[in-house]
Amino acid sequence: MLPESPRKADDHRAVRNVTRLTVLFVVSLWVFFAYWAVTSRQETISATGNGLSQMAHAVEQYSTNLFKMAEIFQVTAERWLAANSPSDPRTDAGFIALVEDFRKRTNNLIDIRMASANGDLYYFPNDQIQARDNVADREYFKAVIDSAPGLRHIGIPVVSRVSGQWRLPVTVRMKQSHRGLEVINASVDLGALISAFESERPKPNGTIGLWKTDGTLLVRAPQADALVGKKMAENWLELELISTQPAGWLLSEASPIDGEARLVGHARLTGSPLVVVVTATLADTLNPYYRQLLRIFVALVLVTFGGAMFSARLVRALRAQERDAAELQRLARTDPLTGLFNRRHFFASGLQEFSRARRYGNTMSLLMLDIDYFKVVNDTWGHPTGDRVLQALAEIMGSIFREQDCVGRLGGEEFAVILPETELSGALISAERLRAAVAQSAIASATDDGKVLRITVSIGIAVSTADDVSFETVLARADKKLYAAKESGRNRVLAS
Ligand code: GH3
Ligand code: MG
Ligand code: MG
Repeated sequence: MLPESPRKADDHRAVRNVTRLTVLFVVSLWVFFAYWAVTSRQETISATGNGLSQMAHAVEQYSTNLFKMAEIFQVTAERWLAANSPSDPRTDAGFIALVEDFRKRTNNLIDIRMASANGDLYYFPNDQIQARDNVADREYFKAVIDSAPGLRHIGIPVVSRVSGQWRLPVTVRMKQSHRGLEVINASVDLGALISAFESERPKPNGTIGLWKTDGTLLVRAPQADALVGKKMAENWLELELISTQPAGWLLSEASPIDGEARLVGHARLTGSPLVVVVTATLADTLNPYYRQLLRIFVALVLVTFGGAMFSARLVRALRAQERDAAELQRLARTDPLTGLFNRRHFFASGLQEFSRARRYGNTMSLLMLDIDYFKVVNDTWGHPTGDRVLQALAEIMGSIFREQDCVGRLGGEEFAVILPETELSGALISAERLRAAVAQSAIASATDDGKVLRITVSIGIAVSTADDVSFETVLARADKKLYAAKESGRNRVLAS
């Protein structure tokens, strides 16, 4: 066993921990981001949905009040006519004053008109107008003329053929006819309603609409004349929900009008088959969310990149430090001239192996080796060549012994080898191989090019026994045998 090169730094705890922590940090960051992205999208949608539903509720209250007002007008007008029985309401100053008062009080938002059984429509005051319009063909007229009196009908908006304005007719047939007048029409000016809707609708692509619960569109902002009176939502599956639930919101995958995914808030009007629907496109709703998502994503990419760079630098620094530490450790164990274990480490290994052998009842062998007449080598060839001989001998030793054997330089030209779990026979074979290999090797001179020299070694062997109390006693026996080998002529192996 020779001093090993630095251990692969990857195996080290600090590097592993830094890598693990970095991965953990980055993964948690992204997991948190994914969690945020999902929940935040959901929250954005439901917050918007709730907002739309509230807006629908406010519009519903406004619309309910408007229709209530129209109803109050009709009821009051009918009662007045019943109480006063004017000879002709169209010319009666009292009735005209009542209607004009209504108009004024609603800023001309609601107007009272009346129609005869054949559909002639009368305005008040009626001085120069004589049945300028016949509404017998209009849906709102037809809906009440043949039905029982008192049934109020909210009609489909029409463009007045007189004023050109969009008007929403609320009609009712009176209980009694007054000079041929049968129907009271409270006509709501939609211009004001549409501009109120327009200023409130979610921008840029949101809508506010008043629908019949059967899916017929009555009013919508942005204004969409072509759609008014059309049964737009016939195939709108969600209509079922909208027309039956009093209020709420839902996400509609495809709007019946433009096919867009929309968030739809709604509120039903109390007492009439109408529903206010407020929508915002999903794209508009999620736009700010997507912008924020992108900002956070970019920030996270930067943090991930920065974290990876930082971690990589830290790992590089740690590895360099570990390499340095391992190299220092190796140097502390190594003899600088030969690269074998130094005396200190050899003794530490010896002690360790000795106690292991004792614990498991194994036998360990110990070789001590000394170069013969080394002084002569130094004197004849010079000190540098002497060093070269020491290195050459170390190389031979390294090639002969096993991985688990510990080869050390004890000092000068004295070496020793610990052979764990080795009986005398095995130790003798190894020692003899070494002796022979050294004797046969030709070592080049360091100073005199081309010249080679030969050396021999003497080796003493000791084997640990159960009686040995310390590593040193085994070493002393091997040393004794080495001395004996020298005494008996050198270039030989002797064992105790
Ligand atoms: P012997 O056969 O009895 O061992 O004779 P020897 O001449 O080898 O005698 P000894 O073992 O006492 O010689 C030790 C010599 O080794 C003394 C010293 O000059 C030499 N020496 C010790 N360390 C080094 C070294 O690092 N380099 C060199 N070149 N010579 C060394
Ligand atoms: Mg010596
Ligand atoms: Mg010697």
